[in-house]
Amino acid sequence: MIGGAGSDPGRTGTAVACRGAVELLGLGVTELEALAESLGEPRYRGRQIARWLYGHGVDAVGAMTDLPRAFRERLQASSRITYPRLRRVQDAPDGSATKYLVELADGQRVECVLMRFDDGRRSACLSSQVGCAMGCAFCATGLSGFSRNLGPGEILGQALVIRAHAGVRIGNVVFMGMGEPLANYDAVLRAARLLALPSGFGIGMRRLTISTVGLVPQIRRLAAERLQLTLAVSLHAPTDALRDRLVPANHRYPLAELIPACRAYAAATNRRITFEYVLLAGVNDSPAEARALAALLRGMHCHLNLIPVNPVAGTPFRRPEVSAVMAFAALVRRAGFPVTVRIERGTEIQAACGQLRLADGQGRPSRWTPSPVATP
Ligand code: SF4
Repeated sequence: MIGGAGSDPGRTGTAVACRGAVELLGLGVTELEALAESLGEPRYRGRQIARWLYGHGVDAVGAMTDLPRAFRERLQASSRITYPRLRRVQDAPDGSATKYLVELADGQRVECVLMRFDDGRRSACLSSQVGCAMGCAFCATGLSGFSRNLGPGEILGQALVIRAHAGVRIGNVVFMGMGEPLANYDAVLRAARLLALPSGFGIGMRRLTISTVGLVPQIRRLAAERLQLTLAVSLHAPTDALRDRLVPANHRYPLAELIPACRAYAAATNRRITFEYVLLAGVNDSPAEARALAALLRGMHCHLNLIPVNPVAGTPFRRPEVSAVMAFAALVRRAGFPVTVRIERGTEIQAACGQLRLADGQGRPSRWTPSPVATP
């Protein structure tokens, strides 16, 4: 795979000339068609390039063998393909997940994960930012602070690296790695559309999940796009008082704004929303919180994903006992909500977002220090 010249940190989508070369990875079919046309070729050559990039995953124009040689030479002279470089691979002992640390063109590193399910499904979890500015209290990435947004090619490139390394067909993608995806809206949406390309990964929109801590304007914008994307909202607390301490973004977008935005998304897309709820022992896992959660979400077309925390060094949180997890799940289920208890895949391989990067010596302490949370 190619590692290469510097990238434009904040770019979110168009053809970017760098040292005179257009970065091909991240361009959509229409842009590739226009590029082909600008180089004196018919537009359909753009579709051929897209197939090579996203279907075959080639990292060199020279490998696009159904393009005329003269066109390949012109394209090669005016473009580049910059894959993330694979730096580290870690397998879970039970084979359920593989975590990748990849390096971007400017030397920044992000993580992505391949998850293998017993029914044969293969999912990729991709990062959308280097670090994260959201500062969630229990999160390794939050401890590292925020560096920059990823471009669409850098996001998609993680899926290409996983596919090439593991030799699997990726059937689902979750944007749940490092970063807040909706804070990098344009690049993430572009990556999602590229992943859906039939000549590329061919992953239907319903099999793409975007997670968010609850950025209300972006949720409403996404609803207006009327895509069939799955939205996963990291809720983690049923009251503002508690959520303010666990998810600082709640100060900006409290539950009174977030929940109506979620209802609007479900109504506009007819899609069931997933609410993620990390269970923290003695913090948000009591029967009172389970009942408050059920009351908060009453009447919503949604699904609850309960995740006993994957403890992170440097944070004060502990995983609840199995009995507490099951009692919480039973209470919410009894209120009529579908509930899944998700055991984090790859706990042994430091699979909570940001942990491999921290272990690798990258990242820095966050300016936001988690305050102790009172036991209810
Ligand atoms: S949980 Fe997600 S949004 Fe929160 S700090 Fe971690 S990466 Fe950012």
